[in-house]
Amino acid sequence: MITLGGQRVYLTRYHTVLFGTLWVPDAWDAMTDDDKYVLLRHERVHLRQRARMGDAAMSFVYLVPFFPLFLAYGRARIEWEAYVETLRATAEVYGVDAAEGLRGHIKRRFVGPEYGWMWPFPRAIDRWFDEAMADVRAEHGAPRPR
Ligand SMILES: [Zn+2]
Repeated sequence: MITLGGQRVYLTRYHTVLFGTLWVPDAWDAMTDDDKYVLLRHERVHLRQRARMGDAAMSFVYLVPFFPLFLAYGRARIEWEAYVETLRATAEVYGVDAAEGLRGHIKRRFVGPEYGWMWPFPRAIDRWFDEAMADVRAEHGAPRPR
């Protein structure tokens, strides 16, 4: 409402996170099995977060920081934990380079309107991304010299 439609992603994810009903995008039926797998790995993290934190705490962290809209650190960390899983799953299915290729897309999710300018600090997101990719690369072994 506040962001004039830019928040469709937030509202659907919000439903997954708070009510435990798995959200799938409109394009679900057109997605490949691999893409569905990557998406489910992300959403599974949210379901585990609910189990870990409990509905009340999860709702508080995810919903209350909606005000102020621009600095929702708790929501940002909840989403980041799930995006780390997105990177792991993407690296497993499509390779490490494909995971690295998600940087711009994921960064926009955090600094843009889709989640209400959840954590509008691109350099912080880059740092989180670098840390996550270091782990992903370690899991996949260092690149071999040719
Ligand atoms: Zn999410």
